[in-house]
Amino acid sequence: MDKFIASCKELNISLTPEQINAFQIYYDLLVEWNKKMNLTSITEFEEVCSKHFLDSLSLVRIFSQRELESGKLALIDVGTGAGFPGIPLKICFPQLSVTLLDSLNKRLTFLNEVIHCLQLKDIVTVHGRAEDFGRDKKYREHFDLCTSRAVANLTTLSELCLPFIKKDGCFVSYKADKGEEELAAAGKAIGILGGKVLDTREFVLPGTDYKRFMIAIKKIKTTPMSYPRKAGLPAREPLA
Ligand code: SAM
Repeated sequence: MDKFIASCKELNISLTPEQINAFQIYYDLLVEWNKKMNLTSITEFEEVCSKHFLDSLSLVRIFSQRELESGKLALIDVGTGAGFPGIPLKICFPQLSVTLLDSLNKRLTFLNEVIHCLQLKDIVTVHGRAEDFGRDKKYREHFDLCTSRAVANLTTLSELCLPFIKKDGCFVSYKADKGEEELAAAGKAIGILGGKVLDTREFVLPGTDYKRFMIAIKKIKTTPMSYPRKAGLPAREPLA
């Protein structure tokens, strides 16, 4: 845990004893539930801290802690799986209003238990596909921030994620070493969907040799009503 605390400090995140305890409980639940359902292939403590917790918190490389704590930002994590990056972000930035979306209900059962055990407030789980919720009035153009890690290529993801964001809000895609290639391929789709690349960050995840590439896409125009297309199409026929 000391290494994780120190790495967080390098990101300008000073964890309180309560937050340290919350990460420990989250880790314990992850490992326990992973015995009965497929949540993660990484279970060793230090590795979970760096490859899941710290990686999730990398959002602060794009938005400062101050920005994340300014006002009440609504964040949706698309394809959250076992809660990455949504839960670590909520632990560190409790002011965020967080929606965790995933199409696999059993992972949400796990997340509801995490939310209950950590007594997190203003965080909900939503079961379904991004293609369907992105057309739902309650969710469409409702969020300031959208995050997504390890869900699809950037072209597909842009169609899944940009509809959720308000004008001037931002979609942040967590990518590894193919990020730059994906960004080059997604340029046209990002424009069609109302986005504009705001920023990128390339870095190595502390304590590992894992390359990371984060892409921040700002919503500059409303997404045309024809997007997202029906479930499955954004992945089968990515916008070109
Ligand atoms: N974001 C987590 C992480 O980085 O560990 C989970 C990644 S996991 C490889 C991908 C997750 O995305 C799965 O839990 C899957 O159910 C979800 N998913 C894939 N396509 C989706 C869609 N169209 N709408 C909602 N969830 C989706």
